[in-house]
Amino acid sequence: MRLIILGGPGAGKGTQTALLCSHLGIPGICTGDILRQAIASQNPLGIQAQTYVEKGELVPDALMIEFMRQRLQQPDIKGGWLLDGYPRTAFQAEELDFLLEDLGQHLDWAIWLEVPESVLISRSLERSRPDDRPEIVQRRLELFQERTIPILEYYEHCQRLLTVNGNQTPEQVQHDILGKNLAASAE
Ligand code: AMP
Repeated sequence: MRLIILGGPGAGKGTQTALLCSHLGIPGICTGDILRQAIASQNPLGIQAQTYVEKGELVPDALMIEFMRQRLQQPDIKGGWLLDGYPRTAFQAEELDFLLEDLGQHLDWAIWLEVPESVLISRSLERSRPDDRPEIVQRRLELFQERTIPILEYYEHCQRLLTVNGNQTPEQVQHDILGKNLAASAE
């Protein structure tokens, strides 16, 4: 099973990713966590991404696309994967399709966690990550509206979008996702 989880900052992507990955036995690739760890360890990816992540800006597409090209060729993800936080832009979404074509893989579903903006703000501010300060959250939300919302249409157009009400308890959201019959692949 190959899945993408889409949602704004504070939509519950990380929580649903952990639940789904353990339920489906697939690894999760969480770009935000990977970038934060890369910054903490100051590896080459972290050094290049740092100023963007700290300001709540998007890391340049070229860097993210190259990272994903390498990551999706590693042996641990042969049996499937769940991407959390990627793609974030229309360009990344298109490039992901090209990459999957090259790798002979296909995406099953893009799961959209729909959550009102006021809830995204209050949930993000309850966290204590450095990129969850109020002014940074505001910027991340703006970028989410401008750059990520348009890719919903892209996945809807290819009939791969599953919309779930993310403004519920994590258990209820998970229940709703699994109730969508993920196994009925869009292939
Ligand atoms: P997240 O935890 O998914 O909200 O991501 C935290 C930060 O990492 C974002 O605010 C961006 O700076 C960066 N980031 C994560 N994923 C991407 C991506 N696919 N494209 C560009 N920047 C990203």
